[in-house]
Amino acid sequence: MRQKRAKSYRKQMLVYHHNFKFREPYQVLVDDKIVCDTHKASFDLVKGLQRTLQAEVKPMITQCCIQAIYDTKDQDAIDLAKTFERRRCNHPPKEAKPPLECLESVVSVNGVNKHRYVVASQDLEIRNTLRKVPGVPMVFMNRSVMVMEPLSRSSEKLSRYQEKQKLFKGLNDPSLAGKPAPEKVSEENAPAPGSKKRKGPKGPNPLSMKKKKENDTPDEAKNKVKSDPTTTTTTTTTTATETITNGSTSRRRKRSHKSASSRQREIGDEQSDGETSQEKK
Ligand SMILES: [Zn+2]
Repeated sequence: MRQKRAKSYRKQMLVYHHNFKFREPYQVLVDDKIVCDTHKASFDLVKGLQRTLQAEVKPMITQCCIQAIYDTKDQDAIDLAKTFERRRCNHPPKEAKPPLECLESVVSVNGVNKHRYVVASQDLEIRNTLRKVPGVPMVFMNRSVMVMEPLSRSSEKLSRYQEKQKLFKGLNDPSLAGKPAPEKVSEENAPAPGSKKRKGPKGPNPLSMKKKKENDTPDEAKNKVKSDPTTTTTTTTTTATETITNGSTSRRRKRSHKSASSRQREIGDEQSDGETSQEKK
């Protein structure tokens, strides 16, 4: 049971990490009630937070919340709260706001959890209010167990939207749209098939060499033929290779639907190839 919960919390924190850019150590805003309650139950609040969020945490408390703890006159709770980093809320201490109002003003900046706070609150009203702000992980004590609230509907909605954005960003961005396609085409056209075919058939077969050059870029191939010293020595050999390449293309077609007869023909072609290569030499 505990294992299962830990796993779901880890998953949830991953969502906050990826879609809401939460980073360790997580800043956890604690309210006055959770400090007092955990202290009364001698539950280690900071360790509980670390265990629940499965990460390093930085507990923080607003001026108004610590004021509320002062009002309880629970000295131990006050001492504990003093160890937390104070979050300035700019509410004057003498006119401290109720924790709900204070936390809401600190967490929700124009409806966004700008500073990426985790909220640890024992006040249902606070949690109900902050649930409307997307991307606020919330932790509370359920009897003696610290639990994390499931992803709120607003968080879920926003994270789903962001996942979609990630998916389609590349496709819908006109500046990116053109780029990947030509790269792929060039890769497919130029080096890949040539290198594949060169690996395939037995090395010194002149047929396969000619065929590829003509298939890929005929102009280049012809230029190469012209510039190649071995072919330029005799004009008769070039004409011979041309006829052979014609034969080779037909042979290739036969290969695609393999039957016994085509195989025999292939063998015959190969034999004739051997003859022509001998002639060349
Ligand atoms: Zn305040």
